[in-house]
Amino acid sequence: KKLIIAIDGLSGVGKGTLAKALAKQLSLPYLDTGLLYRAVGRKMLNAGVAVESEAVIHIAEQLSQKDWSRDDLRTPEVDKAASQVAAQPKVRAALLDMQRHFATQQGVVMDGRDIGTVIFPSADIKLFVIASAKVRAERRWLQYTKDPNDPLKTKQIEKIAAELSERDEADASRAIAPLRPAEDAKIIDTDHLSADAVLAQALEIIHR
Ligand code: C5P
Repeated sequence: KKLIIAIDGLSGVGKGTLAKALAKQLSLPYLDTGLLYRAVGRKMLNAGVAVESEAVIHIAEQLSQKDWSRDDLRTPEVDKAASQVAAQPKVRAALLDMQRHFATQQGVVMDGRDIGTVIFPSADIKLFVIASAKVRAERRWLQYTKDPNDPLKTKQIEKIAAELSERDEADASRAIAPLRPAEDAKIIDTDHLSADAVLAQALEIIHR
């Protein structure tokens, strides 16, 4: 039987970087479930429909791989739209089977917010990744700009930090699937670790 590895945490904690590296190392398929909510949010914005409308549920039900493979899913407006659609129970329900089916036979590394608690409560390995607000904002800034000499850096990081904390609060206070570690999840704090060190710690947990 192939491994199911569930990785949860907030945006910018480094869970995506870890998940990708683990999938490569262990030759497992990888799914970033944030992209599913982002793709629904993107399509909602493009269609100009309301977040609580039937149209959004339909978008989620019809979602396919090409929708979550597009390259316009990491923008501040999509951040917000993703968080809004993710609070809709019927949207989450529509995406549930899609996520579970992704794991059949070959195993999977999946990252998100509810993978260890809702999608795969019996995952072989559950990791819960954390990092401070400051480090998360810096990482997010790097993902968006990639220019270390940007003169507006500090200002932009402050704005990103404000948007992150707004989204954290929305995600934490929603009625459905608020972020929490599964009881049997192992916590990894990435603040003072390189990506390689985070990977090494995860592999150590997996091979224990
Ligand atoms: O992780 P990422 O920032 O890409 O996720 C975007 C949004 O999608 C999050 O703010 C969260 O509201 C939602 N999400 C979720 N459940 C997941 C993954 C993402 O609710 N498993």
